[in-house]
Amino acid sequence: MSDLILFWHRRDLRIADNTGLATARDRTHRVIGLFCLDPNILNPDHVAPVRVTYMIGCLQALQQRYAEVGSQLLIVQGEPTQVIPTLATALGAKAVFWNWDVEPYSQKRDHTVIDALKEQGIDYLAPNWDQLLHTPDEIRTGSNSTYTVYSPFWKNWYSKPKAEPVATLANVAGLTSAQMEIARKNGVIELPSAKDLGFVWDGDLIIAPGEATAQSRLEEFCYRAINNYQEDRNFPAIDGTSQLSAALKFGVIGIRHVWQATLSAIENSRSDEARDSIRTYQQELAWREFYQHVMYHFPELADGPYRDAFKGFPWETNDQHYQAWCEGKTGYPIVDAAMRQLNEIGWMHNRCRMIVASFLTKDLLLDPRLGEKYFMQKLIDGDLSANNGGWQWSASSGMDPKPIRIFNPASQAQKFDRDGDYIRQWVPELRSVDTGELLTGNITPLERRALGYPSAIVDHKIQQKLFKERYQQQKA
Ligand SMILES: Cc1cc2nc3c(=O)[nH]c(=O)nc-3n(C[C@H](O)[C@H](O)[C@H](O)COP(=O)(O)OP(=O)(O)OC[C@H]3O[C@@H](n4cnc5c(N)ncnc54)[C@H](O)[C@@H]3O)c2cc1C
Repeated sequence: MSDLILFWHRRDLRIADNTGLATARDRTHRVIGLFCLDPNILNPDHVAPVRVTYMIGCLQALQQRYAEVGSQLLIVQGEPTQVIPTLATALGAKAVFWNWDVEPYSQKRDHTVIDALKEQGIDYLAPNWDQLLHTPDEIRTGSNSTYTVYSPFWKNWYSKPKAEPVATLANVAGLTSAQMEIARKNGVIELPSAKDLGFVWDGDLIIAPGEATAQSRLEEFCYRAINNYQEDRNFPAIDGTSQLSAALKFGVIGIRHVWQATLSAIENSRSDEARDSIRTYQQELAWREFYQHVMYHFPELADGPYRDAFKGFPWETNDQHYQAWCEGKTGYPIVDAAMRQLNEIGWMHNRCRMIVASFLTKDLLLDPRLGEKYFMQKLIDGDLSANNGGWQWSASSGMDPKPIRIFNPASQAQKFDRDGDYIRQWVPELRSVDTGELLTGNITPLERRALGYPSAIVDHKIQQKLFKERYQQQKA
């Protein structure tokens, strides 16, 4: 058997600070990258065209990186449980390595691939974690169970020493042309475009694909905005967050690199305010890990609510309301601005994600799973754990100990879009409206008609009362 190791990339589309890839390089210099276009994942019903476009761009950049260090990134398409063992066998690979994932589908798929590889006598590396600073079994309560509340999780998570970035892949040898021929006969294809795969996105991307851009975005954010993050991250009209979520979702940047950047920022900071801000950013990274840990330990979260009061909750069925929400035509300016931002650029500010999620569940009384699915169909950073966590938090159906949280769209706008800049950017027909009216939504029916802006589809006061009543009945 040869000394060739295939490294299967999934949500780690980079060669820098990649733990599984670095382990493969420690074992051999013949490391070949592999990516599988998996039809179970690339399903238009739950994948956003913008996300596939970003991913394909990252794969292109990754192919370039492999070429620079002397190897190749091979692309296959089909059931990973079949195509990967077939290719590994045809190439006489000694092993297939990859980094582990928390999602229920990935776990199941990986175990089937392991069985198939074992049958062929091919080695594998499992479990090797890369996308997390701490593995799901590393952060445990005093009684050795999984944390279901964020604050104590954060304390424990923060107190643990964190690993440094691992070495970038270098000096490797790829396939010979004869082996490339064998690879092609056994499923290797040219990288298709997102359009070839049926995903059409003609807009810009909020972050250009590839490792280099993600790294410079991180540096730029640490230089420009991290010191004011605690305050600025709340205002959707301000460019106050890192917009690294898509890069983190696809592992285009290593989490150890991001952590290290926060430590350098603390070292260089000159005030307690700046240090608090950087700490707040670190807390967001911990939220990301918290949701991944709980998804790993409670895979049933992917299918529905965590809290009993929400199992069988009498959600409304109202397609008109749902469509109005999706299209940003609810008649609530801040909600509509946010949904139009999502539809137009494939990303939404975190504050607005909370506002629209609260509106869908507490004002329209629609099942949060509808919103969760819509987000996955639209977001460049759509990620099962973070999205599910965000929706369950907003619907009050998750692990969050605070029982009921209802966002008032008007007071959210008054607090976080004080001058109405965000609303005016995304709802152009309201640009001329007086700021006070814009924020409260107190725009007369006559004015709405003249501007071509819809009437409010529900009354917030009435709906929140209704939601509370239904919740009390469910709890009883
Ligand atoms: C209803 C709802 C749905 C969401 N869906 C997703 C999703 O599909 N994918 C996703 O990555 N995030 C999701 N989030 C979390 C958050 O809104 C985004 O991570 C954030 O807006 C991305 O922008 P940023 O990179 O500028 O974030 P920053 O403020 O710069 O934060 C840095 C990083 O921390 C992580 N992060 C920040 N906030 C959260 C959070 N609340 N939960 C988990 N991770 C967080 C992200 O990886 C983010 O890139 C959702 C939140 C809500 C309320």
